[in-house]
Amino acid sequence: MRPKGLLITIDGPAGAGKSTIAKKLAAQLGYLYLDTGAMYRSVALAAKRKGIPLENEEALEQLAREINLELKASSNGVWVFLEGKDVSRDIRTPEIDHLSSVVAQVPGVRTALSTKQKEIGKKGGVVAEGRDMGSFVFPDADIKFFLTASPEVRAKRRLFQLEKQGLRVDYQKILEEILARDERDQKRKIAPLIIPKGAVVIDTSNKKPEEVLEIILRQIKEKFYV
Ligand code: C5P
Repeated sequence: MRPKGLLITIDGPAGAGKSTIAKKLAAQLGYLYLDTGAMYRSVALAAKRKGIPLENEEALEQLAREINLELKASSNGVWVFLEGKDVSRDIRTPEIDHLSSVVAQVPGVRTALSTKQKEIGKKGGVVAEGRDMGSFVFPDADIKFFLTASPEVRAKRRLFQLEKQGLRVDYQKILEEILARDERDQKRKIAPLIIPKGAVVIDTSNKKPEEVLEIILRQIKEKFYV
C-alpha cells in the first residue's frame, strides 16, 4: 500500500510515541518525515549557544527566520544539522526539552518555523509530526492523527530514551517536566496543543508501536481505498 502524495499529520503531547510512529509510517509509505519538534529544539540550542536571553523575543524571532537548518531522514531517525554541524544528539537533552518548549511560546518563532514547515509540506508525500500540525500549520491535511498516553507512561518512555543516550535522570523529575511541558504547550496563546478537528485519536498507553502503526495504516486505507 503506497498512496501517493498524501499530507499526513501526527500531533500529541511529549512521549505519546509520535516520533517512533511518524518515522515508521514515513518509511513504510516512502514519504518525507517532517520532525517539527527538531526545528524548535534547534532554535533553542542556537539561542543557548549565542547567549540570546529567552525574554528577547525579537532576537529569537530573527534567529528562527535566519536559522541555517537541515533535516536529513535516515533509517533510524533524523539527522539535524545546524550551521552545517551535526547537532542530532545535542538537541535531545533534558535542558533542550525545557528550552524548546519555552521558545515555542514566542509568536514570531512559531510564525517563522511554520512558514518553513508549510513550504516543506505543500507538495505532499509528507508525515508531519508536532503539536500544531493538523490544527494550525496544515488544517487541510488529508488525514490527521492525535496520539496520547498517560503522563506516567510518557515519563517512563522519556526516561528510557534518555538512559539509552547514557544520561542518568530521575523519574519523578522527568514526570514533573513532562507535566510542565504539557501545560506550556496547552496554554500558550498561539497554536496551543489541541486535538485537531477531524483527527483520529489513539491512546498509545497500552499499545506497542506496531499496533499503533497498524491502526493508522488501516485508517489511511479505509479513507483512501488503497
Ligand atoms: O516533539 P518534541 O518533544 O521534539 O518538541 C520539542 C518542543 O517543541 C515541544 O515541547 C513543544 O513545546 C515544541 N513544539 C511545538 N510545536 C511543534 C513541535 C514542537 O510547539 N509543532
